[in-house]
Amino acid sequence: MSAIRTVIVGASGRMGRTLIRCAQHWPDGRVVAAIDRADSPEMGRDAGELAGVSALSLPLHADLNQALANGADLVIDFSAATATPGNLEACATAGVAILVGTTGLSDAIKSKAAAAAARVPVMIAANTSLGVAVLAQLVRRVAAALPVEFDIEIIEGHHRHKKDAPSGTALTLGAAAAEGRATTLQAAAQLGRSGASERRQGEIGFAVVRGGDLVGEHLVRFLGPGEQLELGHVATDREIFARGALQAGAWLTRQPPGSYQMSDLFPV
Ligand code: NAD
Repeated sequence: MSAIRTVIVGASGRMGRTLIRCAQHWPDGRVVAAIDRADSPEMGRDAGELAGVSALSLPLHADLNQALANGADLVIDFSAATATPGNLEACATAGVAILVGTTGLSDAIKSKAAAAAARVPVMIAANTSLGVAVLAQLVRRVAAALPVEFDIEIIEGHHRHKKDAPSGTALTLGAAAAEGRATTLQAAAQLGRSGASERRQGEIGFAVVRGGDLVGEHLVRFLGPGEQLELGHVATDREIFARGALQAGAWLTRQPPGSYQMSDLFPV
């Protein structure tokens, strides 16, 4: 099989650089273009040098359509939610699979992703680590097994620069818990408590910690009368997201058009 020609969007960001570094040891493909926003101070610099590896003859540029026209099999988007609709549109038009790791996506953007999925394989993955993919499935099963008297609370922590809260991963875990309880996150979520507010039965609560250089911590607590059950995941290295995204991206290029998620790769 020929190497998967991969375009990284958000290439000069924390995740973009990590992806370019990890792709140096990726057996399935290679990075053919590095895209970032036009007003990035890094425009024109070599993406390999930015990523801390040797020069790769990949100057950072802002024209995704041009990169796709030059030949691509996969786009991996770790940029900003404002960029994602355009990226989805460009991939649907060019017939290229897209993995969106960017978080903070609105319902309107998710609808756009569903529309693009009619034409190309699309994966929306708020967390591309293997551990969290498995955790989400465990949360779904535990929520289904325990009675509603067990209150569900999700606590997450990230570095001080994170833009969205609660994290996309926390919301994914909340959605898994809601699914286990045969409801929706929209109906069950309590996104923050301040002042006096009594807990509703069946509520799925979220609490957020931001600070330092935390890579990502998630704890799902099932708090019952007289006992508690906890499931959690701690990321200590951003490379787990990059390696998972490359693995999932390679898998995605072999799928027919449609909507996919990380749990499709790692069924428990
Ligand atoms: P970052 O701020 O370090 O990098 C984002 C990059 O995207 C920057 O280089 C920025 O210039 C670029 N960008 C912004 N707007 C753009 C546009 N319109 N077009 C092209 N590039 C654009 O952030 P990060 O820590 O690398 O995270 C990026 C995204 O990935 C965030 O949404 C974050 O929550 C998410 N994330 C997901 C996972 C996962 O496992 N799915 C893991 C970590 C981070």
